[in-house]
Amino acid sequence: MKKKILWAIMLTCIIALAVAFVACSKKHTHDWGDWTETTAPTCTEKGEEIRVCKTDSSHTDKRGIDPIGHDMVWVVTAAATETTDGVETHTCARDSTHTDGNRFSGEYATGTAGLEYTLIDEDKAFSVSRGEVSEGSVFIPAYRKNDSNEYLPVTVIADNAFWLQSGITGVIFAADSQVETIGVNAFRNTAITNITIPASVKTINSSALNGCANLTGVIFESGILLETIDSFVFANSSITSITIPASVKTIGMYAFSGCASLTSVAFETGGALEAIGDAAFVNTAVTSILIPAGVTEIGNSAFNNCASLESVTFEAGSALETIGATAFNNTAITSIVIPASVKEIGAQAFSVTSLASVIFESGILLETIGNSAFSNTAITSIIIPASVKEIGISAFNGCDKLTNITFTSDSALETISGSAFRDTAITSIIIPAGVETINSSAFVNTSLTTVFYGGADADAWGEISITTTGNNFLINAARYYYSATEPATAGSFWHWADGVPSIW
Ligand SMILES: [Zn+2]
Ligand SMILES: [Zn+2]
Repeated sequence: MKKKILWAIMLTCIIALAVAFVACSKKHTHDWGDWTETTAPTCTEKGEEIRVCKTDSSHTDKRGIDPIGHDMVWVVTAAATETTDGVETHTCARDSTHTDGNRFSGEYATGTAGLEYTLIDEDKAFSVSRGEVSEGSVFIPAYRKNDSNEYLPVTVIADNAFWLQSGITGVIFAADSQVETIGVNAFRNTAITNITIPASVKTINSSALNGCANLTGVIFESGILLETIDSFVFANSSITSITIPASVKTIGMYAFSGCASLTSVAFETGGALEAIGDAAFVNTAVTSILIPAGVTEIGNSAFNNCASLESVTFEAGSALETIGATAFNNTAITSIVIPASVKEIGAQAFSVTSLASVIFESGILLETIGNSAFSNTAITSIIIPASVKEIGISAFNGCDKLTNITFTSDSALETISGSAFRDTAITSIIIPAGVETINSSAFVNTSLTTVFYGGADADAWGEISITTTGNNFLINAARYYYSATEPATAGSFWHWADGVPSIW
């Protein structure tokens, strides 16, 4: 009985399982509801959405939603200020933290408030002056709006713009400055400490930074167009070094005069410089100078009283023609090589007590050695170039170590001026055949006892106009006449032997 019941239960279970199996394996078509977003997509991240089967809510379906991407627009993120241009930022309209770069907004820095602008160049540009600004650092804008709201370049710092404004401590030009001219006295006697001259500047006019006692640094932007540094521009400032841009053609009179702290002056290589003006570097502390090859003129007193100047070198291929009066007077140079192109050496140009060696490049064009040009130097010997026609008054006066003066056989010398070789240590001298004039005291206070005259005889010697005053050393010296070949009677003639006089 029990066994039958057990069998019945087992059978019932088997049937129940079979019915259940049939029921469960019977499929239905999902009846999906609408998609519902569960995770919103962002600019860059995928989102997700889901739908549910209406027949059986345990049936669900998911899928991704593509990123929607940025919606970039330019937005002004910084308005122009006095010193900075306006800025736009490329910003996502969906999320302002999404940015990918900045650009100029179109609004230029406005410049220090209170500056005054004047239309120039047929109303196509502005000149700027102080207006109401009297202290602090001044910012010079690149552009300024006219009455029609159009930007015009600010191209000129007006003459006298900030002159005598001792409260002005600095000047800053906009990065894209359009300034071409810095006017006369523009920053004269201000308290500015340094200045970077924009690349756009072509001319700095007279005394623009004269007397800026606090000015220690001057930088020219690379690629600057500057051609002219006018007179007194940096005079009496406290600058310690300067590099003259390659574009500069002219350095004006007294441009750096009285810059007592100026020890370093350099010129960019390959420059256009043609002239160094009178007294341009007078009374500076420069220690050495390399004069660029293109310079044709060094003005009067250009380096006068530069007591620390020990080295003066002319770049190879120098085109120098004129060395002005007192150009290197009272310097500390010990030697100098004068370029072959030099035609004129002015009065007292090298009257330097430490100067022990003077060499003229061969083939030099020099015709005149100026008055006192080499007076009171320490030279021991000198070879006068063949081209020299005139030796100026006192040209070598006071050279008390000078024992050897050489003229070459082709000397063009015509005039020995008064006191030319006074107070030297010579014992003999060559007087070239072409000499026409010897003025007073040419050889006074020397040990001159021997004269080698280039002329043939006493008649020729008699043709020379010799001022007797102070010339008894010359007149009383033993005199030899030139004879290329050995004369019949020895004792009164000389000839050249290896470039020096030799008595027959
Ligand atoms: Zn379903
Ligand atoms: Zn975005």
